[in-house]
Amino acid sequence: MGLSRIRLRSAQPPAGLDPPAEPESQPDSEPKSAPRAYRLQVVPAPRPELRLAEVPEAAVTARVIAFANQKGGVAKTTTTLNLGVALGERGKRVLLVDLDPQGNLTMSQGMNPDAIERSMFDVLVHRVPISDVIQTVEVDIAVASIDLAGAELALSALIGRERALDKALVEVRDRYDFILLDTPPSLGLLTINAFVAANGVIVPVQCEYLSLRGLVQLENTLAMVRENLNPDVRVEGIVPTMYDGRTLHAREAIEILEEHFGDLVFETRIRKTVRYAEAPVKGSSVLRYEPSGPAAQAYRDLAKEVLDGAEAREHA
Ligand code: ADP
Ligand code: MG
Repeated sequence: MGLSRIRLRSAQPPAGLDPPAEPESQPDSEPKSAPRAYRLQVVPAPRPELRLAEVPEAAVTARVIAFANQKGGVAKTTTTLNLGVALGERGKRVLLVDLDPQGNLTMSQGMNPDAIERSMFDVLVHRVPISDVIQTVEVDIAVASIDLAGAELALSALIGRERALDKALVEVRDRYDFILLDTPPSLGLLTINAFVAANGVIVPVQCEYLSLRGLVQLENTLAMVRENLNPDVRVEGIVPTMYDGRTLHAREAIEILEEHFGDLVFETRIRKTVRYAEAPVKGSSVLRYEPSGPAAQAYRDLAKEVLDGAEAREHA
């Protein structure tokens, strides 16, 4: 997004354009309604590196990223949580959204999806404000409950069924830098809602059982969404997960991915380790569970790549 567009939306004059302070003894003849200096002055554009600091926080719009792969168990939820917490560590304001009726993301932050009264189901189907279902744990999370399983059916009868999430996010888009959407293992209406709301899609891929056919199906669904609902949404990255560099099989899987998807494959490899399964049992990200371990570092590395990519897009 061009920074100039962000600035135009700001309600306040940018800090550099503040009117000069009123002199102590203002002559009485000066009309009170005199146009303020910043409206008239032509001020040279600030240097690019200064611009972001001048944008009032409320004018920044979150980058929305969907984590998708219709195959289960490829680390969508693990990546949504740990990448989100890693972005939070770098000072970014992060909202995670649990769109999977299994509620694994909600559980991995120590909450019980069966005991949740209002969830993303109510947001999508009954238009409850999303802020009503946001809990703050390590970062903010809009929670799922088991009723979400009925959301696809309930939504299918509604007009604008593919845009329910996009509309719900309007309320909070200016409160966050990143909104990360964890999707269920299917390409149904919940995942399509995520694709419609998203600026980009990150696909976690398990190095062990690489399914290129699955990735083609995902890309076909995304192409359909681009054609009809959200022309800009694209796969912005593929994360190799559960990587075991000792096996030839895993190294070959990476080679195949890079051959087909080139630069879209992140350089960070998320290695296979039981830490990722241990942390959610404690209701914790791996960054809180074992802050200085290699499992936490892997998601910090991925966060850096995602931030570099977002910055490159902004300046493009
Ligand atoms: P998905 O959301 O795609 O279904 P999950 O994130 O729930 O996948 O991961 C599936 C299982 O694999 C979970 O038990 C999780 O803890 C574990 N897991 C995730 N990433 C790794 C990894 N890099 N190494 C080993 N186990 C992992
Ligand atoms: Mg999951």
